[in-house]
This record gives sequence, structure tokens and C-alpha cells, in this order.
Amino acid sequence: MEISIRTPLIHSLPLSQHSGCHVWLKMESSQPTGSFKLRSAGHACCHYASKGATAFVSSSGGNAGIAVAHSGRRLGLPVTVVVPETTSARARQLIEQEGARLIVHGEVWSEANDYALSLAMDDIIYIHPFDNPLLWEGISTIVDEVISEGVKPDAVILSVGGGSMLSGIAQGLEKHQLVHIPVYGVETHGTASLNASLNAGKLVRLDKVSGIATTLAASQVCENAFKVASRLDVRSMLVSDAEALHACRRFLDDHRVLTEPACGASLSLLYDNKISFTPDDNVLVIVCGGASIMLEGLAG
Ligand SMILES: *Cc1c(COP(=O)(O)O)cnc(C)c1O
Repeated sequence: MEISIRTPLIHSLPLSQHSGCHVWLKMESSQPTGSFKLRSAGHACCHYASKGATAFVSSSGGNAGIAVAHSGRRLGLPVTVVVPETTSARARQLIEQEGARLIVHGEVWSEANDYALSLAMDDIIYIHPFDNPLLWEGISTIVDEVISEGVKPDAVILSVGGGSMLSGIAQGLEKHQLVHIPVYGVETHGTASLNASLNAGKLVRLDKVSGIATTLAASQVCENAFKVASRLDVRSMLVSDAEALHACRRFLDDHRVLTEPACGASLSLLYDNKISFTPDDNVLVIVCGGASIMLEGLAG
């Protein structure tokens, strides 16, 4: 059983014309919870359920927590999501709407996370937001689906937070012998943890993260994402909050889909002409989505 769905692969006419190449959009925004996290968390929850898990715990007040809550509901298993006080009312509502028990604990995420970890025991399984091979395996099916539709990407554009997307796409590319193509890993200036580690040549932790793309705000990428960057042609790209937001607005008009700034960051590489391609290039953009965004969040 899989809980995530096969998402549409759309040839974007507006973005293709704008960028002078073939732009393919993998619409993870179409997942029932609005982001690719249903592939990762959903796959992990199914795996653990088949091994006898009786409940799940998450500490994510974002798309990962919503995806765990959804997966538990679908599997008929209870979910507890522990979030810090900073978690938005909208995110809390989405988690509770899925039927999960919401516990608000601590001022910052690490306090909520410590509490979540203390709840996990035996068959009560803690689901990490990005650092677990099961999560990456679930995400790798994005590449399987693209290939099965006859599209062979010449480049991939994706957003980087904690690095599960990068890890999963890399796994998919390796499966299909596409390790040579460039993978543009996009972060905002305030959440540039992959960028910092690549510059340092080792895994580093940011002292602070900031800005609008809270979904990308992991202070350190997982070790696997860093390793992937040394195996594949991963190119770190940074965009501003304003560029990410602007791309969300343009995408809403072009494709009538609302996305988080975390996703706008990837889209802005094309909208703001930060990279160029040749007319024959097939460029795959992972439209990672995002559930907590509402129309008024894009106003400005
Ligand atoms: C989780 C998430 C990201 C970042 O993914 P990582 O695997 O943490 O790098 C980007 N966009 C959206 C919408 C997400 O939910």
C-alpha cells in the first residue's frame, strides 16, 4: 500500500516560453496533503505499520507533521504531533483536521522535538521530518514516474530544507542512470544550510535561520544530502525571500496553483532567469507544494 498518489507531470507552456527550454512540472502540490511529504512520511508509516507499529509521533508543525497525521488516519493508527508555540494557527488546524492529537510544547522546535522523542517507545514510532532512508525511498518514486512518462530530464530543480528531497531525487536518478545531470538545489539566503556545508567542505550547522521560507529552515542538512552533493552534480543556488514570494505569485497566475515560498524558491530560478538552458533541454522542476500557505500570505 502507498498513501501518496501519482502526481501530474505538466509541460509548462508559460515557463517553457519564458526560459527557452522544455519545463516539466512534477506537481507534488497535488498530493492530498499538498506536498511531497506524503511520499516520504507515507512510505515510512506504511513500512512501520507492516512491522507492527501501533502509533506514530512527529514533531513537525509543517508539511511533514501533516503528512504523518494523514498517514496515521489512513492506516487507522493514532498520531501525536508535538509542535512549539511558534507553530501557526493554520498548521495546527490542518494537523487536527487529520485527526491527530496536537500537543503544544516548548518555545522552539528542539524542545518540542525532545518531547516527541520521549513519547516514542517500542511500537510507537517517531517519524523524522527528513533524515531516514525510508523517507528518501518514498521520494525516489518521483523520478520513476517521470521516466515512465517518457521524459528524460537534462536537469532537475528542487528546494532544499533538511535534504530529504535532494536525497530521494538523487536515489531516483541513480536508479535510472542519470547521475550526470545537474541538480539545482535551491535555498533562500536565510535558510542556506546546504550552501554553508558545501562551502565549508563539511557538514555545518547554521547559528540561526531566518526569513519567509520556514519550511526550508533546517539549521543543518542531513548527512546523506551532503554526501549526495559530492557524488552527483549538485549545484547550490540561493534566492531572496522576495524572489521566492514573487515566483509563488507568478506561478499562481500561470498555473492556478498556490504554493509555499519554499516551493517558490525553486520556481524563481526560472522566473528570475538565474540559469539558462538550450531549447532542447528538458528541465524538471519539483513543485514541492506546501499546505500552510493561504492567499493572504502572498499579498504584498
Ligand atoms: C519539506 C519541504 C521542503 C524541503 O524538503 P527537505 O526534504 O527538507 O529538503 C520544501 N518544500 C516543501 C513544500 C516541503 O514540504
